[in-house]
Amino acid sequence: MNKNHRKKRHSKCSKSRSQSVTSERFDNDSNCGQNELSTSTFYIKTSKVMGRYMVASRDLTAGSIILTELPLAVGPCNGSKVQCLGCYQTLDETYLYTKCNCGWPVCSTTCPGIGHAFGHTEEECAVLKDSRSSQTFDYKDFDNFKENYNAIAPLRCLLLKAMDSKKYEKILSMENHNEIRRNIPELWNLNQTTVVDKIRKDWGLVEFSEDEIHSVCVEPEPNHEDEIHSVCGILEVNCFEVGHNISIRGLYPSAFLGILEVNCFEVGHNISIRGLYPSAFLMSHDCVPNTNHSDEENNFKLTVRASTDIHTNQPITLSYAYTLQGTLRRREHLLENKFFECRCKRCSDPAELGTYTSALICPKCNIGLVLSLNPLDNDSSWSCNNKYQRIDLPEMQHWFSSIIKSIR
Ligand SMILES: [Zn+2]
Ligand SMILES: [Zn+2]
Ligand SMILES: [Zn+2]
Ligand SMILES: [Zn+2]
Repeated sequence: MNKNHRKKRHSKCSKSRSQSVTSERFDNDSNCGQNELSTSTFYIKTSKVMGRYMVASRDLTAGSIILTELPLAVGPCNGSKVQCLGCYQTLDETYLYTKCNCGWPVCSTTCPGIGHAFGHTEEECAVLKDSRSSQTFDYKDFDNFKENYNAIAPLRCLLLKAMDSKKYEKILSMENHNEIRRNIPELWNLNQTTVVDKIRKDWGLVEFSEDEIHSVCVEPEPNHEDEIHSVCGILEVNCFEVGHNISIRGLYPSAFLGILEVNCFEVGHNISIRGLYPSAFLMSHDCVPNTNHSDEENNFKLTVRASTDIHTNQPITLSYAYTLQGTLRRREHLLENKFFECRCKRCSDPAELGTYTSALICPKCNIGLVLSLNPLDNDSSWSCNNKYQRIDLPEMQHWFSSIIKSIR
């Protein structure tokens, strides 16, 4: 794995993905010519280091709405279970699912997500019906069958090329990190087999080719990039996980509620859906973000609110990592999934700004807290802040894994 590649920042306006914000990164920033994205609450700046990022255009008070927007595309997350293409309800072999005209399982023929813009559209149904997709299914083996769902969100993006080219151009203007991802064989090969080969070879949808990207891409890459891989990268880098609060109840006509109340398990908790949004992806990362967001259950409309007061010209941020995880885990996630090394204030501080999220009670003195001597160096030693006893990394790793084992 080439770490230099991973550290590379993109400077082109149309291709960059906002990353972690630190004060030195604001040098020489300017407007990006992306003013069509400006609103009364934010505008877009660009810097050589960070690329495009969202900035407050006026003082925003905590709790105020920064933006609301509908998604460009919605689909199942990678690695999700077999689910209804309309309403995303998880299905298993024991569920009385039915088959849609296209051959894919759906919760029922009256599923309100069938024909819904962010569910199973008529166009998707027609394409899947004409494809060989359902011929390859083994409905008795849901464990193998679920792999097919990795390709649905990319396919939905690709279908926009014919259905709504403006939305498709917008999607292609997002960062795909192909040059970094290509050097991570386990990631690239997984997309090759579960998405690219699935769509083109298994399902026979050969219209999604390598070259077509250049006819719509605002700033073509110098090397030919595979269109489907680009869409996979865009989804991985820019998607929001949505639908956490979804209740199947919300997607069903009231006539079904009685049946659901009696027969439903907590299906809402199994739902894993990702969505691409037209502007929200421009929020840069910070491990102490100044926003939070929620989405509506029927149409996935995203609302981003200020979680603290934000001053004019201050970056509007969200965390691409789970904020309740410690620095090691967050930085590992950001490097492996978002391809940058976070050096924000919280990551730089062993005490994580007084939260001590990563601190462990010292096993030697049982009083002090063990903290990393340099949290920006994954190989750094740790030390107890009571007796300043150094604990080398191998010992720490051993300790960490025994703690994790005992939790499981
Ligand atoms: Zn359904
Ligand atoms: Zn269908
Ligand atoms: Zn950070
Ligand atoms: Zn100690």
